Amino acid sequence: MTDRIDDLRSFMVLLRKKGLLCEITTSVDPVHELGAVLRACEQDGKAAYFHRVAGSSVPVLGSALGSHERIALAVGASRENLGEVLEAATRAPVPPRPIDGPAPCQEIVETEVDLGTLPVPTHAPKDGGPYINAGVVIARDPVSGRHNLSYVRLQVKGRDRIGVNLNTWRHLLEFFEAAERQGQNLPFCVAIGVDPALMIAAAYRYDGDEYEIAGALRGEPTPVVRAKTCDVLVPATAEIVLECEIISGEREAEGPMAEYTGHYSGVHPQPVGRVKAITHRRDPIFQTTAGASFEHLLLGTAVTREPKLKHLCRQASPRVREAYLPPFASGFLALIAMQEPRPGEARTVGLAALNAHVNINTVVIVDTDVDVFNPTEVFWALSTRVRWERDQVVIPGTLGNELHPAADRTGVIAKTIIDATLAPELRGAYSKIVYPKVDLAALLAGQRPKGE
Ligand code: MN
Repeated sequence: MTDRIDDLRSFMVLLRKKGLLCEITTSVDPVHELGAVLRACEQDGKAAYFHRVAGSSVPVLGSALGSHERIALAVGASRENLGEVLEAATRAPVPPRPIDGPAPCQEIVETEVDLGTLPVPTHAPKDGGPYINAGVVIARDPVSGRHNLSYVRLQVKGRDRIGVNLNTWRHLLEFFEAAERQGQNLPFCVAIGVDPALMIAAAYRYDGDEYEIAGALRGEPTPVVRAKTCDVLVPATAEIVLECEIISGEREAEGPMAEYTGHYSGVHPQPVGRVKAITHRRDPIFQTTAGASFEHLLLGTAVTREPKLKHLCRQASPRVREAYLPPFASGFLALIAMQEPRPGEARTVGLAALNAHVNINTVVIVDTDVDVFNPTEVFWALSTRVRWERDQVVIPGTLGNELHPAADRTGVIAKTIIDATLAPELRGAYSKIVYPKVDLAALLAGQRPKGE
């Protein structure tokens, strides 16, 4: 059997083979318990497969892409070249391939909709209810007809009713506003349990059709099929598809939910969706992600943004060596390592970094003797190499993200650049202390380690 991935279950086979899937056969409660167990598995470096979830016959997969390792595995990359692979996908789009024949995702078609049959978890202790949060939301621009794939948190509010959280700067919001101006509902579908290449593609902020990124990542077109109740193409191999519409003219309170900022979102009026049909495989798998989990942060704030960050920083200076968006900082912090920057150059690179993504509001530039992937070293540089009266600049009144606690409701926030590199005139006077590595185990076993 090859390691070919063309749907969620073939990826699960690979996860099992690599020892990256935690199999949970004990029945768990979808309200609060599943989310907590999912986080524990994720912190253990694994995806979680819940064979039995109370109240539903459908099993649940969580944190499929909750580490750099699993994301790399999903697209046949290594941890080291993952950024290059993700960037290359935007330059070589591969359009989807519509199929006519029977599609696995439509083996069963239910028009008597009851979302209560699905094991939708209420993840975090203060979430406002069950959330469908790992489904890929697919809609078409009512003007151009092109498809858009994205993530939208969907709060289950009734048998066929969902809250649809539409943030500013999102293509889906533009589509809905265009439909609403005509007094029309906007049809959309939610594909739950898809080829992980599609999950990664949906995380891109891309002006084209994200199906084309999925095709580029997979190296072949994504097979798609027309939905049963609307003119939207859905992934043929999805586990479950919800066929829905956002209702024109309606708004209702939505939230709170554990968000990528590590805080709960507020409760705000948001559009409302109606589910018109559920299609699925004969034995479907539901997919979910815990709010503020590694998976949420990696897909939502880090891996698809890093390539552009690196690119822009390197354009600003050839002395840039690393550019990293640590998932623990929710995509707000960029860490840049530079090789002996010239006077003023770190700050110039900082300005480039702020332009890599609207959410980035803090940029720290360090020397290459500081490991940007190790927070301990970054804090050491911040504590010893910054002359705060001149190495930090604050830029007030810039556009960020409205979910950041320091931003106003329109997303306006102050941003900062911190040059934590040693000033050129101090490089000769201060050098970092580095002890040679030793093989302690060998030494304790009585062997004199070989000099390194
Ligand atoms: Mn888009």
